[in-house]
Parts: sequence; C-alpha cells; structure tokens
Amino acid sequence: MTVHHHSGVPARQPWATRGQLIFFPSIMLLLLIGILVGGQSLRQQIQTQDKSLELNLVRGVHDFNQLQREVNRLRLQLVHSHSTNTKDFTLQLKITQSRFTIIQRHFLSRSLDTQVSTIKDHLVRSWLSLKPDLKQWQQEPTNTKVQSRIIDQLEKLELDINQVSLLNQRQQWQEYQSRIQRHSHSLQLLSIITILFCGFTLLVGYSLVQFMRTRQHLLETVEQLATIDDVTQIANRRHFNAVFIQEWERMLREQSCLSLLLCDVDCFKAYNDHYGHQAGDSCLFQIAQTIHSCMRRPSDFAARYGGEEFVIILPHTQLSGAQAQASVIQENLQKLALAHAESIISDYVTISIGIASGIPQLELDSHQIIEQADKALYQAKAQGRNRSCSSEF
Ligand code: GH3
Ligand code: MG
Ligand code: MG
Repeated sequence: MTVHHHSGVPARQPWATRGQLIFFPSIMLLLLIGILVGGQSLRQQIQTQDKSLELNLVRGVHDFNQLQREVNRLRLQLVHSHSTNTKDFTLQLKITQSRFTIIQRHFLSRSLDTQVSTIKDHLVRSWLSLKPDLKQWQQEPTNTKVQSRIIDQLEKLELDINQVSLLNQRQQWQEYQSRIQRHSHSLQLLSIITILFCGFTLLVGYSLVQFMRTRQHLLETVEQLATIDDVTQIANRRHFNAVFIQEWERMLREQSCLSLLLCDVDCFKAYNDHYGHQAGDSCLFQIAQTIHSCMRRPSDFAARYGGEEFVIILPHTQLSGAQAQASVIQENLQKLALAHAESIISDYVTISIGIASGIPQLELDSHQIIEQADKALYQAKAQGRNRSCSSEF
C-alpha cells in the first residue's frame, strides 16, 4: 500500500492574487496620470491660444493706427506737394502699400457679419481705385486735378480705415471674449472630470479592499470549518490525515522518531446511556481540550479521530517521550475528575492509550502505523483500561 496524499486541509490561499492586487490599482493610476497629463497639456494649449488672441487684438489696434497715420502722411505730402519731392512720396506710398497688404492679409478677410464684410470690401476697393490716380500723379506731379482728387479720396479712406479699425476691434474683442468663455468652460469641465475620476478611483479602491477583506474572512471561515471538529473544537480527522502524511514524510526525510498516540474513552457507551448524549458531547469536549492543552511543542498535534477516539502526533519523539506524554494526559484527566458512575474501572472518566513509535522507513506504510497504535490500544483495553500500551516499528 502506498501513502496517499489526502488533501485534508485546503492549502491556505492568499486573500487576493498578486495579479488582482497590482492590476486594478495600476490601471486606475495610469488613467489618472493620463487625465492629469492630458489636462495639463490642454490647459497649456488653451493658455497659448488665449495669449495669441490677446496679441492679435493688440496688433490689430496697432496696425490700423499705423495705416491711418501713413495714409494721413501720404495725404499731407500731397497737400504740401511744393515741399515734397516725388522720391519721398514714392517711399511713403510703398510703406503705406505694404502696411495695407499686411492688414488685408490679417484683418480684412470675409467676416460672418455681412455688414462688416461690405465695409471691409469697400475699404479694399477704395484703396485699389486710388492706384491709377496715384500712378498718374507720379508721372505728372503737376496735374493738380488728379492731385486734389487723390487728396479727397485719401481723406475718405482715412475715415473708412477708422471705421473698419473700430469694427475690427469690436469683432476681435467679441471673438476673444467668447473664446475665453469657452476655454474657461472646458477648464471647468476638465477639473470636474479629474475630481470625479479621483473619487471614482478612491471608490473602486475602497470597494476592492472591502471585497478582499470579505474574501479573506470567508476563506478563513471555510478553512476553519473544514479543519475543526464541531463537538470538540480541536482538529478533525481530515486535518489529521493531512498533518500525519506531512509529518510522516518529514520524519522519513530527517530519519527521526515519530510517535502516534491513539486514545479511546473507557466505557463511554455506558456514560452516554447514563448521562445522556448531550452530557456525552460535553464530556468529549472537556477530554479533547485537556488532551490539547497537554501539547508542548508547536509541532505536537491532537485531533479527534472518530466517536470517542482521539489521536496525537508527536514528531521528533521517541517511545519514552511518547509514554511520558501519555502519562501526562492521563494525570491531567484524573485532575479534571469527570464523574462516571457507570465505569467498571473508576469513579471518574478515564482513557486508554495505544502508542506506536519509530523512525519512518520507505518500505513502511503510514497506515500500518495507525493500525499498530490501534492494536496497542486494544491491548491496553484488554489489560484493564485506564493505561497505555506501546509498540515500536
Ligand atoms: P470501551 O471502554 O471498550 O471503549 O467501551 P466504550 O463503551 O467506550 O466503547 P463502544 O465502542 O462500545 O462505545 C463508544 C460509544 O461512544 C458509542 C457512542 O454512543 C459514543 N459516541 C461516539 N461518538 C459520540 C459523540 O459524538 N457524542 C456522544 N455523546 N457519544 C458518542
Ligand atoms: Mg471506541
Ligand atoms: Mg471507548
């Protein structure tokens, strides 16, 4: 017969797998970092946009003012044409032209407002219509008719520029305002999302911890239910099977002595019959607790083997040590002095003990050792009970 490994005790499971413990918080943390980083870059982008809008606003005002001044200078040069040479005039014309081009490119594009668009178009057209006259006057600076026509037109142009400049300012300002408002809304939304997500992360983290606590508690309860005997509150047969195989193999490896004690309550049927089953249970509980309290070393192990039988494993213990332990148990039970009116050997509850001791060998079967302890127990009963008998393997 070979030693079968009964999975008597469920292997203690960690209360959450490493993966679960790392996965969820990591995902949450990554998402949170993503939101924070994304939010920060969005914030920066928005701030840059606001800044450029602001600059544009200032630039618009500046450029229109300049244009107005330049057109004015051009007109004055024509008005005082006697003190102006054509070279100066050409230079001023060039400056004005380039300024107009800049403004046209940046500020005179079509507007959504048709009225504004019309005024802007009008300005461009007025400027263009001036050109042939200007050219003509450059060729014949003495032509006073052309000159006065240009002066008139330039005067009107100045007024137009003024109007468009104001319109442009208003339009840019409105655009700036609505943009700022939209941006502040997005920033608010971003903050709300971040806060909500933080809250969500905390909630999920909290639930996770709660879930794992419950799980751990359940596992512990199940583990206890699976290994503890209900009546005596010490280890059950299942637990004994697992521990015995474990200790048997350990002593086999270490070639050290292992002792097994099988205890049976004497005349317990009579006890039950006399005191009742309930009292029997209570008696078994007290005996079990007494046996359990006699265990000295951490590796000493006591369990309920069946009905009114208990089993004790003593690793690293020779026969003499096991016999001493048996005596201690019997002495303690004597001190407990549980009355047993129907016992044929004493006034109190007693037990008989069968001991099997030896060094585990490969060719030996662990079950045979239990049988050996059982035989020794039978012997103790046959010799009159309330004693221990032993055998070595
Ligand atoms: P012996 O001295 O030869 O061991 O005699 P005994 O009466 O103790 O042995 P027997 O095997 O005839 O009877 C065992 C009794 O143990 C039978 C049963 O009523 C009782 N018993 C077994 N399990 C329990 C239990 O869980 N609770 C109670 N109250 N009694 C139990
Ligand atoms: Mg029995
Ligand atoms: Mg008995």
